[in-house]
Amino acid sequence: MAAPVEDNSAPASQESRKPSAHDLEILSRQLGRPVRDVVEIPARCVCGNPLVAATAPRLSNGTPFPTTFYLTHPVITAAVSRLEAGGLMNEMNERLTADEPLAAAYRSAHEAYLQARDEIAGRAGTGDVPEIAGVSAGGMPTRVKCLHVLVGHSLAAGPGVNPLGDEAIGAISDWWTADRCYCDGAWDSAGEAPSKDLSRHGPQGLPDIVGRPAPVRKSKSSHATEPSGEPSAGGLNV
Ligand SMILES: [Zn+2]
Repeated sequence: MAAPVEDNSAPASQESRKPSAHDLEILSRQLGRPVRDVVEIPARCVCGNPLVAATAPRLSNGTPFPTTFYLTHPVITAAVSRLEAGGLMNEMNERLTADEPLAAAYRSAHEAYLQARDEIAGRAGTGDVPEIAGVSAGGMPTRVKCLHVLVGHSLAAGPGVNPLGDEAIGAISDWWTADRCYCDGAWDSAGEAPSKDLSRHGPQGLPDIVGRPAPVRKSKSSHATEPSGEPSAGGLNV
């Protein structure tokens, strides 16, 4: 690999990380419920809408929350659910046991996740959260348990940080690519945004979006697009 260079492609600047009231409304529409404790928008669509929400490592009610980066864009979450339903996690887990360079890169992704969370905690004023020290998300550092978590991390961190998240992003290119806006029609934009919080956070994140089907963007795709109806929750609790 060449020496690190400034990559101004994916990761959001500090200014654009701050969630506006509009961002929070879009997030609530994307998720179909109000969001809470979102402190940054670490990745955005080319149109500016959020792709990923960063949640503080301690919620305002005091609960430790290890899943810092959560994928919110319905087109991407549905596409990643298709990868999970297709068995990609099993294949990745097999490779992690046999491919030491991959395993090492994945351990580095885990460390990067923890460091990024510390930085977000610092900016958010959350302070240390010893209950989740060393605990990342998505199965890291040794397993893949939720591809949504890995893709959320890759989108937040930019390419080259999480190898399996990067791979999953490549694998959804029939449905989503970073250079285009897929927002139109991807969520209900009419009427009131959800404002009553009916959600409960599971240990891994915001489970109710996992497995939601997205609009089919490329009808000529040969991939299976039928949602399984049994969303691979990847360890998420409801
Ligand atoms: Zn967009």
